[in-house]
Amino acid sequence: MDEIESTAPQKIRDRLKRIEDGSFRFACHPGVSCFTECCRDLNLMLTPYDVLRLSRHLSLSTTEFLDRYTDVVVAEGSPLPSVCLMMQEDSRRTCPFVTPAGCRVYGDRPSACRTYPLARASRKHRVHGTVLESYYLVVEDHCRGFDEPRTWTIEEWIADQGLEEYHRRNNDWMDLVTHPRVRQGLTEKQIPMYYMASYDLDRFRGFIFESRFQEMFDVVGTDMERAREDDTVLYELALSWLRFFLLGEGPVRPKDRR
Ligand code: SF4
Ligand code: SF4
Repeated sequence: MDEIESTAPQKIRDRLKRIEDGSFRFACHPGVSCFTECCRDLNLMLTPYDVLRLSRHLSLSTTEFLDRYTDVVVAEGSPLPSVCLMMQEDSRRTCPFVTPAGCRVYGDRPSACRTYPLARASRKHRVHGTVLESYYLVVEDHCRGFDEPRTWTIEEWIADQGLEEYHRRNNDWMDLVTHPRVRQGLTEKQIPMYYMASYDLDRFRGFIFESRFQEMFDVVGTDMERAREDDTVLYELALSWLRFFLLGEGPVRPKDRR
């Protein structure tokens, strides 16, 4: 049994199917009878990069987006708070972004929505540290996309769904949160900082630029003025800061204040 088959939640495990010859049949478009059926009753975890992209799509600060559209959950067995998209309080727990014409945040839809009908497991190679991936199909009974004639390789699907950038950003964050010392749990002081620097980048921007941060720390290799303006540079800075704050390592260095 592969890692994903043994560690996936039971609900998903029963629907996983191996991709036998490296390709699969699937298409999703407004013509399928189940169109938008999958955008309901979801436990949709958001990564920090998902939060950033969705907030920008909706012209909201990350703080406003988190307040309006998410719940904070602590998943069973996890020492860390996670952010879930809050479904609407209707009888079908509908995603707040679904419309009869499809997803209204399609260009910046979350990683999980892009990845379906695949499930991705990733781990680091023990010796050289590169990310190893494996993919399965998640076969939902209601999903008629599998009846469509279009075939894809995994690589074609990743490219078509714009997943490379999401994987790269999500991998950088996963690298930190799966560190054995982080998995042991965080202190009460560390948790609010972890949440802010992971998910609430606009508040993190205030922490960096409206405090004495730059008097106290150097960040090797980061152009701080670019971080002020460019969300992706700020995202990288937030991960560097968390690496220092939680693990005492990385490019953030206390300034010599003698
Ligand atoms: S259930 Fe499948 S085919 Fe139908 S809308 Fe969702 S992903 Fe597309
Ligand atoms: S974000 Fe878009 S694709 Fe994802 S569940 Fe909501 S409506 Fe569907």
